[in-house]
Amino acid sequence: MYFCNQTLYKIIIHHIGENNSILNKFISEIRDCEIQKDSLRFRRNIERIGEILGYELSKNLSFSTSDVKTPLGIKKMNLPQKDIVLCSILRAGLPLHQGLLNYFDAVENAFISAYRHHPKKNEEFEIVVEYFASPSIENKILLLADPMLATGQSLVTVYEAIKKQGTPKEIHIIAVIGSTVGVEFIKKNFPENTHLWIAAVDDVLNDKGYIVPGLGDAGDLAFGTKL
Ligand code: URA
Repeated sequence: MYFCNQTLYKIIIHHIGENNSILNKFISEIRDCEIQKDSLRFRRNIERIGEILGYELSKNLSFSTSDVKTPLGIKKMNLPQKDIVLCSILRAGLPLHQGLLNYFDAVENAFISAYRHHPKKNEEFEIVVEYFASPSIENKILLLADPMLATGQSLVTVYEAIKKQGTPKEIHIIAVIGSTVGVEFIKKNFPENTHLWIAAVDDVLNDKGYIVPGLGDAGDLAFGTKL
């Protein structure tokens, strides 16, 4: 039980796919080369995984009681806090963002771009952040969505850029597939008030920074190949 809800280093890891559930089916479909040919299905499965991870993380939020008026009376309901900003990394993060938004429909939204730049034209790369559109995140709950947690460098670089908009009171990283190395990197480079909600963790990261067996390139599978 290496990853399950343990506090290691500073952040808390929630490896949701560790326990059998319908989530297994969605993860196996996004990995499957044949099913991947249907990009609509790929995007929808990532969205469904976002819905499940969002549901799981919702249990960790603060709740307060409100009166709800029905046609026949008043019911007291415990409702989750509202001060949430959902930030996704373009472009692969878009279907995951939609899945989270399906459940957290009233949150504020932020988008940030990050891509791998290979200055020496070899396998070494640096992460370049170019575009960032965000409300203030000061003292809010930050949900940070990135489907593939490979090296972890994108998430850390992105977080460095986001921090300029304020300091969130809590961070929830949502990822579909991670590598063991990437999870370790996140553990060491995010603050104490961070949770990682992840559907699956694979052991190998190849020399191109791809997760093995993973699923391939999530952005290409969702939106087509790029130049
Ligand atoms: N990004 C992807 O889309 N896939 C990986 O395996 C790693 C990074």
